[in-house]
Amino acid sequence: TAMYLSKSKGRHAITVFNGDVNNWNLRRHRLRQDMLHALHNGEFLLHYQPQVSLMDNCVVGAEALIRWQHPEYGLLSPSAFLEIAEESPLIVEMGAWVFNEACRQLRHWQELGHSLQMSVNVSARQLASRDLPGMMEQAIKGHGLSAHFVKLEVTESMLAQDFDAAAQVLAALKQKGFRIALDDFGTGYSNLAYISRLPVTAIKIDRSFVTGLTVDKTALPLITGIVALAKSLDLTVVCEGIETPEQRKLLESTQCDSIQGYLISRPLPAEDFYSGFLKTRFM
Ligand code: C2E
Ligand code: MG
Ligand code: MG
Ligand code: MG
Repeated sequence: TAMYLSKSKGRHAITVFNGDVNNWNLRRHRLRQDMLHALHNGEFLLHYQPQVSLMDNCVVGAEALIRWQHPEYGLLSPSAFLEIAEESPLIVEMGAWVFNEACRQLRHWQELGHSLQMSVNVSARQLASRDLPGMMEQAIKGHGLSAHFVKLEVTESMLAQDFDAAAQVLAALKQKGFRIALDDFGTGYSNLAYISRLPVTAIKIDRSFVTGLTVDKTALPLITGIVALAKSLDLTVVCEGIETPEQRKLLESTQCDSIQGYLISRPLPAEDFYSGFLKTRFM
């Protein structure tokens, strides 16, 4: 039997395990092997979560989020496998697959007459690979897309290791026209002075701030301030993790551009995203 991982409390926890190979490294090795196989076997897929304009509720974008349709364990979320992929060069290949698939899907929706931006998450190892801009440029060219419709999401933690190298790669990507968003903003040490040194075009305010909105009196002034500063730096602002109408309502007093969260929709398979958010609304 194989051994597997599922998200419990923010860390992966083994759920099924072959008793005599009781070794964490072996489990990880096995999981990486399985992921490599899964990649070549077409077991990964993307779900898409809508991003809507706060002002008029229009769908302005989609975030592509990886899933693994596992033959034994069903549909797995990134928390069950991504961290282990990220520890190895496998993430570079997986990331390239994600990027190409997201581009293919975006192009398909564009051909059906829809204008939206596609956000794709990028991991640290990908950013550290020098040919990332080349891979991405080739992908958009291959799909006949303009880089302006593609937004790369990076987190500040991945910039911590080699800030200058990462900033250089991001600058090259921005130069090619890609949009770049700092994901999970506010969870690390980043302040806006630091951001202004980075070639980013957007920030995504982390869900934890939004969660605080209805429970903590300082949360709204904090978000309002972050948004105002970001806007003064000409950055686009997305708020993530909006789950309730109250949270949405409170954000309306800020200059936040767009929102993403379960209130609008969970991440969806491409067909459901299309029928729920593109077809019915605009055609
Ligand atoms: P993220 O980029 O911050 O993506 C947002 C995560 O929050 C997603 O989880 C999404 O399903 C979840 N989410 C969205 N709205 C809400 C909400 O209202 N409430 C709550 N509680 N959660 C919400 P998911 O899909 O499990 O992805 C988790 C993380 O895995 C992502 O966080 C991202 O860091 C990473 N990830 C996902 N797909 C990829 C990928 O293709 N490549 C890379 N490198 N990382 C990925
Ligand atoms: Mg993201
Ligand atoms: Mg995020
Ligand atoms: Mg995150």
